[in-house]
Amino acid sequence: MNNRIIDFHCDVLYKMLYEGSIHFDREDELDVTLPRMIQGGVGMQVFALFLEDSLISGPPRFSQVLRCIDLLRERINALPGVEYIRYREDVERWEQNADCIGALLSLEGVDGLEGDMVYVRTAYELGARFVGLTWNHANWAVDGTMEPRQGGFTSKGRQFIRECDRLGLLIDVSHLNENGFWELLDLTERPIFASHSNSAHVLAHPRNLKDKQIQAIIERNGRIGVTFVPHFIKAAETVTIDDLIRHIDRICELGGEHHVMFGSDFDGIDRKIDKLEHAGQYVHLLEQLDKRYSSTFVKQIAHTNALQFLKTNLPAKDE
Ligand SMILES: [Zn+2]
Repeated sequence: MNNRIIDFHCDVLYKMLYEGSIHFDREDELDVTLPRMIQGGVGMQVFALFLEDSLISGPPRFSQVLRCIDLLRERINALPGVEYIRYREDVERWEQNADCIGALLSLEGVDGLEGDMVYVRTAYELGARFVGLTWNHANWAVDGTMEPRQGGFTSKGRQFIRECDRLGLLIDVSHLNENGFWELLDLTERPIFASHSNSAHVLAHPRNLKDKQIQAIIERNGRIGVTFVPHFIKAAETVTIDDLIRHIDRICELGGEHHVMFGSDFDGIDRKIDKLEHAGQYVHLLEQLDKRYSSTFVKQIAHTNALQFLKTNLPAKDE
């Protein structure tokens, strides 16, 4: 079971920002901790930077973005064996060192960038490589999935996409409303990805992707991280690993066997999938996948699909 899992979404930084004393190297203060990553065979984790309106006074600000980046650097990346992954070369080094734990930075919602391209460039300079445009609501760029008007991009939002293209910031479409999704495909020609979304064919939820959206992501050679949020898997009291696998099946039916990966949303969820309650339990998911799929595919979803995406799309150091 040596698949070195890559997970494209967790909310550890959110918890660290609002609960000051949390430690990443202690066993069980978080769903994703260093010991749990090692236990579950998780070799690389994308850390999302999410600022919750109701927990901060006033609108999200860039100073809070900086605070989160500082938390990542001081409390996670500074731990022995953890490497900050920003460039292709970092990924290649990670591949060669089986004990290395990789950490990547993503923004979940551009709110804290305040519509200022100087802040966008600064976040990139500090290592942010992915950017989710919205959380559930509207912001200065575009509307989120739960915003009633389901609006597309503002002119500032379009300018932002041009700046992302220029810098090489990769766009995450989880949380983006469907109109915005289709408009985005006209605004950029680069691959897009959904870090933590499931199939709307299996469960019709606004946070899930319709078949047409999944196909469009596949056509761009983007990626879809299936997520462990019970609400997006099945409308039932208890949700199992088998229920999650139905979403994986659907993405594969649409031709996504080289595009599907994991985006757990650990530390962003209160309810959990039975037997898949923290990063240390990834082994249970791989066991179930092994029963249904070829070992080649299990390796792809755990590791290779995400890895290829990073190697193709992260900037080279000398660029
Ligand atoms: Zn989310």
